[in-house]
Amino acid sequence: MDEFNPYAAPEALPPPLANSSPDNSTCWRDGDELLALPHSDLPRYCVKCGKPALEYRQRKFYWHSPWMYLLILLHFLVYLIAALAVRKTAVHNVGLCSAHRKRRLNFMLMAWCSVVPLFGCFLFDSGWVVGLGILMFLAMLLWGLIGMQILKPRKIDVNLAVYRGVSTAFLARLPRYPYRRD
Ligand SMILES: [Zn+2]
Repeated sequence: MDEFNPYAAPEALPPPLANSSPDNSTCWRDGDELLALPHSDLPRYCVKCGKPALEYRQRKFYWHSPWMYLLILLHFLVYLIAALAVRKTAVHNVGLCSAHRKRRLNFMLMAWCSVVPLFGCFLFDSGWVVGLGILMFLAMLLWGLIGMQILKPRKIDVNLAVYRGVSTAFLARLPRYPYRRD
């Protein structure tokens, strides 16, 4: 009998995804994202290129919902206090090769040097020089801060930390995430 029967039992669904890792992995790839348990160490490779890491250091990452930024409209201090209270933290040992470590130091240097045009411009008694100095300060600061980021947290909760900004060569070393994501 191959007629359509609306009362037939539905076809079996695939078994639900397990809650525990069968191979004890603590970090995975999912598309272009790196997923890790929030207090696990990453493999000892550079996250920016996948080569063996020269530097392997413990680093903290913070995340809060992007909606929190709306509080800046009220007051920056309101945002700051709320963000510090609700932000989620993840801690990992993260590797960088010598080239990417050096590149990161250059971005940090640029962020620090952004104060030079900021203070320098006030030596001139000219509105447009001050404006240019402040613009250069903001550009160098943002460029430096964004460039020095090792991992870009996309979401962190008590179970899982999700990052972007990781090279595909590094991700290729990780197992595929075997569980269902919310
Ligand atoms: Zn590298």
